[in-house]
Amino acid sequence: MAIIKTEAIVLKTFDFRETSLIANFFTKDHGRVNGILKGIRTDPRKFASTLEPFSSNEIVFYQSRNSGLHLVSQCDLRDNFSPLRNNLESVVCAYYLVDLLRQFMPEEEKNTAVYELAVSALRRMESHKEPQKISRVFLIKFLKLIGFRPRLEACVICNKDVFEDAYFNAKRGGLLCPKCGLSDNYSAAVLKGTVASILHMEENDWDNSLRLGLSGKIKEEFNTILQNFMEFHLQVRPRSKEVLEALAC
Ligand SMILES: [Zn+2]
Repeated sequence: MAIIKTEAIVLKTFDFRETSLIANFFTKDHGRVNGILKGIRTDPRKFASTLEPFSSNEIVFYQSRNSGLHLVSQCDLRDNFSPLRNNLESVVCAYYLVDLLRQFMPEEEKNTAVYELAVSALRRMESHKEPQKISRVFLIKFLKLIGFRPRLEACVICNKDVFEDAYFNAKRGGLLCPKCGLSDNYSAAVLKGTVASILHMEENDWDNSLRLGLSGKIKEEFNTILQNFMEFHLQVRPRSKEVLEALAC
């Protein structure tokens, strides 16, 4: 039984029996991991963390070979992102972030880049006046890192470059040129500015991505494109979908 020490973001916790807690972590070195913290509810001082959602901790766990539930022997709080918790909007955005990690990251598959991206987003939510902007940039970069993004560079039917306002079809997984889009009943019109904004955020660093101003219409289309795409291809509806819709304001 291997003993593993790693950084971990708490995604969700569940009470287990009278005494214990099961936590779903997203760890830096082992991806998404389920751990049991025995006795934490009868003796909260047993662990140096209260395992708040989206807090960052250092955990030690015994890797079980027979089940996906590992025994956590140590959990020390590294960062609770306290300034973030004073702002309701930031808290909602942080919950959206952990919701995405919980639903999209496979169990026990390391993805350090996604871990670093999540920590970096939470850190920025502590001080940024518009946390929803952070959520938006996080979502774009996250989808790209996990290799799950709509095709936006060229028309998914005729393969021609699209330089103007176009159409988007979630089922086909990407953009349609005006000609193909017009004859497709299941596509929705999108502005070229929306597509350009998504591509800009995929390619640029945090600061450059956050500097980009978005009109209300672009924010709305942005959410429609990504939300429909995620729902159609993963058959899951992120529980905080309403949050994302609210972010369009
Ligand atoms: Zn086309």
